[in-house]
Amino acid sequence: METPGNLFVVAAPSGAGKSSLVKALLELDSHLQVSVSHTTRKPRGQEVDGREYWFTDMATFRAMVDAGDFIEWAEVHGNCYGTSRRAVDARLAQGEDVVLEIDYQGALQIKQLFPHAILIFILPPSYVELRQRLTRRGEDPPEVIEQRMVNARHEVAQARHFDFVIINGLFETALFDLKCVVHSQRLRYAAQLRNKSQVFSALDLIPAQHTT
Ligand code: GDP
Ligand code: ADP
Ligand code: 5GP
Repeated sequence: METPGNLFVVAAPSGAGKSSLVKALLELDSHLQVSVSHTTRKPRGQEVDGREYWFTDMATFRAMVDAGDFIEWAEVHGNCYGTSRRAVDARLAQGEDVVLEIDYQGALQIKQLFPHAILIFILPPSYVELRQRLTRRGEDPPEVIEQRMVNARHEVAQARHFDFVIINGLFETALFDLKCVVHSQRLRYAAQLRNKSQVFSALDLIPAQHTT
């Protein structure tokens, strides 16, 4: 079903800059909201429950899966991650645009459920740069970085299933590209008709209502 709000799905291998780009986009765009995922991963240093993630234990996560609370969920780097229906449905119905920052497996599930979702894949400029970013971020121990580098090769191969690909070399260029994708969806005919109805009306583009 097409909703008044747009659903943007952003995926990338860990360290490509997905969270940094989405955070910068949200600061520029008050019509966009990010959905906070549930995860069984332990919080990192600065992470706050309910801000970066809802941190849950495995039993709670399983119960939510069984209750059908997730519109998608997946195991990523040995932890479970999921997007709750509550975080998305009401906002889209109200005409708010929603961003999901999720892995490719979840993105492909979302495309099945929401065929109008816009799938965006963020690529790093190279594997060398990806490793440097994961190391520089300083949030993960070396063995976790190694696992993420191994997984990255399979993840980047999934970019071909996405609608848009953004290469995050120069941060400002990538942010501009992301803004363009979001903006272009707001120029679609159905969106303009909904949001600029006075103009459409003044141009006689809205058929007169039949009265009985
Ligand atoms: P990051 O890759 O360094 O940003 O690390 P995170 O722990 O934030 O994310 C781990 C993985 O889980 C990433 O691939 C995310 O895109 C993915 N992820 C985060 N939230 C969700 C979600 O709600 N659903 C799914 N399917 N994947 C998610
Ligand atoms: P992800 O959410 O994809 O795992 P992050 O947004 O946490 O990635 O970015 C990983 C690291 O790379 C962070 O330390 C971030 O500051 C840095 N970074 C992000 N984009 C760029 C870029 N274009 N150039 C250099 N460093 C970047
Ligand atoms: P991190 O543990 O570094 O925060 O995230 C690792 C990966 O999990 C990232 O690629 C992130 O996008 C993904 N991820 C985070 N939340 C979700 C989610 O709700 N669903 C899915 N499928 N992946 C998620």
